Amino acid sequence: MNLYSLYLHIPFCRHRCAYCDFNTYAGMEALISDYTYALCREIAHAAEHFPPDAGVHTLFFGGGTPSLLPLADLAQILHTARAGFLFTDDCEITLEANPGTVSLDYLRGLRAMGINRLSMGMQSADPGDLRVLERIHDFFDVVNAVKWARQAGFTNLNLDLIFGLPYQTLASWQKTLDLAVGLNPEHLSVYSLILEHGTPMNAWVERGLLTEPDDDLAASMYEWAMERLPQSGYAQYEISNWAKREATGHVMACRHNLQYWYNQPYLGLGAGAHGFAGGVRTANVRAPRAYVERFGESTNQQIGKSANQQTNKSANQQINQPTNQPSKPANPPAFPRTPATVNATPIERFTEMQETMMVGLRLVEEGVNLPGFAARFGERAEAVFAKELGELVERGLLEVGEERVRLTARGRMMGNQVFMQFV
Ligand code: SF4
Repeated sequence: MNLYSLYLHIPFCRHRCAYCDFNTYAGMEALISDYTYALCREIAHAAEHFPPDAGVHTLFFGGGTPSLLPLADLAQILHTARAGFLFTDDCEITLEANPGTVSLDYLRGLRAMGINRLSMGMQSADPGDLRVLERIHDFFDVVNAVKWARQAGFTNLNLDLIFGLPYQTLASWQKTLDLAVGLNPEHLSVYSLILEHGTPMNAWVERGLLTEPDDDLAASMYEWAMERLPQSGYAQYEISNWAKREATGHVMACRHNLQYWYNQPYLGLGAGAHGFAGGVRTANVRAPRAYVERFGESTNQQIGKSANQQTNKSANQQINQPTNQPSKPANPPAFPRTPATVNATPIERFTEMQETMMVGLRLVEEGVNLPGFAARFGERAEAVFAKELGELVERGLLEVGEERVRLTARGRMMGNQVFMQFV
């Protein structure tokens, strides 16, 4: 069976953080109910056109702040997805949560509806860092959220951390890492701050109101993470991701993100979501209101019910009863397009090979599996990319074996230079 992943985008945040350039909006909570309705409609459309021999093995509620959605809305979305797609028994279902938005009851509700992995944006333990980032929580909110998540029955938690911040010192980063490790999450995502054009933080740095992060210091922070985390049982499996190694040797990697790094298919649904399926990359309309309009408006009555509160009608039957439902187009968009798609780009085979190298090399242990590459494309990566691989091996950034090509220790520090060779 072909296994797909589902990414569902929730574009709402309580406050827009100073460094954030994601497709998310503060102050639009009034749209949540209509958005839930539209997302259910898009899921139902995608499911209707999904390959009959395919299943779903990961689902990811990303944002934005999915934990801003009421439990009833999340249950409705999940119910619609389960009704439309064949989920594997061990489907990984992740929800991104802002530690400042959750309670024990809320987390119990998430667990009860089948969400089995939480990804929390901790970012830092330092109050000064959190102020610079304009996060809405402090470290004690993270401590409480982790405690409640455990009480609610979550056994797979990720904490997101950011380093390379203005004013951040190596000592404060080391303390943040120690405190994060002390919370004993199964997974840690550790990203370097990128000053994105158009964000307030970038403008403050450009105007001299904030000190520019120091690249050398950021590199030292990354090296510290590579040294410190294995001491506490975390295996680095990707450039920015570490996970606990279980007694069996299995690393508790994020299976949803592995789908991206293996360059395998996923549907991206919701405002501004991107997908890759059937050899086509898709992008959805970004603005939440425009997204909602693509599916008509909800009654705001049926959609707010949880799956348990529903009548004996299926979720799909319910969401097909809007007040202002647009008439069904004579030719509905073909898979993987949906009514929300604004861009669909067929990917040439060679481009797919390049992308497979670029994303696969992020996996620092596994790298790109060479027999797997040959089986997928009918050509050997060593032949297709002989020049690039030769140069990178000579520069000491890659190592090529029988089974795999992967970054060297030096290559991990210069990953972007390696990946760019395959563009
Ligand atoms: S909570 Fe996350 S998605 Fe929302 S504004 Fe902050 S960084 Fe962006």
